Amino acid sequence: MIDFKAQIGARQAGWIARRRDLHQHPELAFQEARTARIVADELARLGLEVQAGVGKTGVVGVLEGDADGPTVLVRADMDALPILEENEVEYASQTPGVMHACGHDGHTTIALAVAEMLSERRAQIAGRVKFVFQPAEEIGRGAEAMIQDGALADPAPDVALGLHLWNGMPVGLVTLVDGPMMASAGDFDIRIIGRGGHGAQPHEAQDPIIAASQIVTALQTIVSRNVDPTDVAVVSVTEIKAGDSFNVIPPVARLRGTIRAFDKGMIDLLGRRLREIAEGIAGALGCRAEIHVQQLTLPVVNAAEVNAQLRGVFAGVAPEVQIISDYKTMVAEDMSYFLDAVPGTFFFVGSANPDRDLDFPHHHPRFDFDEAAIPLAVELMAAAVASYVLPG
Ligand SMILES: [Zn+2]
Ligand SMILES: [Zn+2]
Repeated sequence: MIDFKAQIGARQAGWIARRRDLHQHPELAFQEARTARIVADELARLGLEVQAGVGKTGVVGVLEGDADGPTVLVRADMDALPILEENEVEYASQTPGVMHACGHDGHTTIALAVAEMLSERRAQIAGRVKFVFQPAEEIGRGAEAMIQDGALADPAPDVALGLHLWNGMPVGLVTLVDGPMMASAGDFDIRIIGRGGHGAQPHEAQDPIIAASQIVTALQTIVSRNVDPTDVAVVSVTEIKAGDSFNVIPPVARLRGTIRAFDKGMIDLLGRRLREIAEGIAGALGCRAEIHVQQLTLPVVNAAEVNAQLRGVFAGVAPEVQIISDYKTMVAEDMSYFLDAVPGTFFFVGSANPDRDLDFPHHHPRFDFDEAAIPLAVELMAAAVASYVLPG
């Protein structure tokens, strides 16, 4: 087992400074120009072969070992969210309305640090490490864009690894979950088209608000009446828009929302029932429904044999860490596209610290994480990669 502790020691302050710099300069999906430049410059400085502009703003860096062996993909995401930061820290976002509220500033920092650790051992590496810095995770589009641009070709990875700092758990807890861990997400958009009219003369209109209201209620029966009770699924209506006057029946109402499940068959079932219910109710109430349902991400499915290897690695390098094997969340992640193509695993590294108020959930305007999770995550990821490409 290779010990990275000595290598990590002196470098932590630099990594935290990098994370804070990225935090101050967040960039939205597919606009990660500054972040991508920092990543490409650092990978080039470390002597990796760098390709920028992969999937618009993505960056790929390949660390080629001196001997032959497997190719390990390490994936990090770089994008921020359209949120106004409410944290009063000196490294708060300097771009109003844009914030690293998911920890991707940490992920970018961690993957660069892993590249740094491993590049210093290049002479002993048998194989290669392909670092993939993806854009646009938050809109579920970056991984696909990079794959379409050839991120999984030449060299094709044998195993894919990724991590997410996770405020749902304190520092010191880490997940390694076999099989499905994060849900497949889809979204739906229902336009209910009726006929507008005077609010005092409803009998001469076809009221889409009545139809929309009944559709929202009836959609709740998909999970309660159509899904096998031993399975899990989510149907959430998150947006209702109709009308803008107290005495006018509007001609159109709109519903939007999200569906979540752990497999494609279930997503298909949710989409089918959603259509049947919306069309049926709209029709019965004299309206018409136009329905768009699309799958945004695949479920994140981890390979048991990769987890089995990493359990041993994590226990060896960080015996103080508690490994959780039965964690699941309906949150989605487009790491799923890499894991759909390449066996691998995506693990959560606990990053909350309730004693320091660092436990706001992801996507909250006061989200921040305990930076002690950074060196730990670097150590775990570096050791995981090393277990494939650094013999002894
Ligand atoms: Zn997020
Ligand atoms: Zn995220």
